[in-house]
Amino acid sequence: MSTPSLFPEPPPERRVFCNRTLNLRAMPVLGFDMDYTLVHYDVHAWEARAYAHALRRLLADGHPVGALHFAPELFARGLILDLELGNVVKANRFGYVTQATHGTQMLDHAELRRAYDQVWVDLSEPRWVFLNTLFSLSEACIYGQLVDLRDDGVLGAGHDHRTLYALVARAMDAAHLEGELKAEIIAEPTRFVPLDPELPRTLLDLRQAGKRLFLATNSEWHYTRAMMGYAFDRFLPGGDWRELFDLVIAQARKPAFFEGEAPLREIVDDPAAAAPLGGSPPAGRVYLGGNARLVEEHFGVDGSDILYVGDHVYADVHVSSRIRRWRTALVLRELEDEVRHEQEFAHDQATLAALMRDKERCEREQATLRLALQRHEHGEEAPPGAPMPVTAIHERLRGLRSEVDALDQRIAPLAQRSALLGGHRFGPLLRAGNDKSRLARQIERHADVYTSRVSNFLHVTPFGYLRAARGSLPHDPEPLRLPAAD
Ligand code: IMP
Ligand code: MG
Repeated sequence: MSTPSLFPEPPPERRVFCNRTLNLRAMPVLGFDMDYTLVHYDVHAWEARAYAHALRRLLADGHPVGALHFAPELFARGLILDLELGNVVKANRFGYVTQATHGTQMLDHAELRRAYDQVWVDLSEPRWVFLNTLFSLSEACIYGQLVDLRDDGVLGAGHDHRTLYALVARAMDAAHLEGELKAEIIAEPTRFVPLDPELPRTLLDLRQAGKRLFLATNSEWHYTRAMMGYAFDRFLPGGDWRELFDLVIAQARKPAFFEGEAPLREIVDDPAAAAPLGGSPPAGRVYLGGNARLVEEHFGVDGSDILYVGDHVYADVHVSSRIRRWRTALVLRELEDEVRHEQEFAHDQATLAALMRDKERCEREQATLRLALQRHEHGEEAPPGAPMPVTAIHERLRGLRSEVDALDQRIAPLAQRSALLGGHRFGPLLRAGNDKSRLARQIERHADVYTSRVSNFLHVTPFGYLRAARGSLPHDPEPLRLPAAD
């Protein structure tokens, strides 16, 4: 008999999910991204401001976009812009397009197949722009809306779908890099940053377990200082977030940070102490720029001794694991709703699976009966078990057809609900039709673990062992239904 645990597991949506086994106890160094990782934002509030600033720039440049409004529900992380057709698509793990909009309008099945029957999404081609982070939502929204304006003839001639994207990206970059947007956030953090008291506790536990922590953010130092102070200081015994970190790097310029050789340029807080990283700078110093190799040298570890935690699928997780072999954790806040919806639907999903098994049984029988008819026509022996005479085969086929029809009546609404779980028009983030989505595939390939927020590591503890499940394969036997252990 197994001993009941003193510590119940957290709810499913707050667990840390594991692709590749990760022993936290043996991990000496942990790095963190800031935006949407250590500091979460109210996506609608933050993205609405980013959208407004980008729009203002487009207007100032003379583009007729004054009537547009941010519509956060239009798109989602993991979707892909198609710069050739002005579309936004969802693809499955093989790159097969399962849904798409043109501009902001959903394509019907015939339009979808016309556009994509011969096309597979290959993210290494410049045609495609993957929506890597929650920061991408405002960008995708403006892009879709500009395509609509172009179709309506409102935007002047001379814009194709690629140059439209260049316009949007430039306006977005400027909104993020100019001071005004960030100044608004700094002035009113309560509007934009929901607090998570368990997060400082999680980092404190890691620190007290002897791990060395660092922060590597693309944000500017003045913004980083304000956001980290707001989200952390009130919850820490010493009242200063910088005590948590051995090393703080602002304006890291990820993803180039993981490939390049940029020097750590200066110690921002104390220019008199400026020194190249390499010796043992005291805890809490702040640097600009730099690169991942310098971080490894600083801590005296290999890439595989560093766990880096971030929200950007490409810049935080893909590149760091591919180039530096860092271990990686992806933070995906949307997972909380998605896992909850899957849990609520689990019973119906099991019913759907059982109905599909019945349908497959009918289809197998139909196929064999058709083969029996074919053999009969050629005067050959019927497959074993086939009824005779031919009239009996036709009779049985008719019975099966109505059985399949009846099953389809029950399957269709369940399958539709399953595909649109959560109510978003593109359905769940991690699924595409019956398969995994392209986003799910990216995560599977590049993130050792993934979770909805950093504070979920509180339950794992600094001593936790995250074990990957045995990979599933189509030829796996059906799971055995063992009697419940007593
Ligand atoms: P991190 O996630 O902590 O590395 O920081 C992300 C930084 O990138 C934030 O300062 C954002 O304002 C900035 N950022 C996000 N999206 C864009 C963009 O499209 N263009 C330029 N900067 C961006
Ligand atoms: Mg981030």
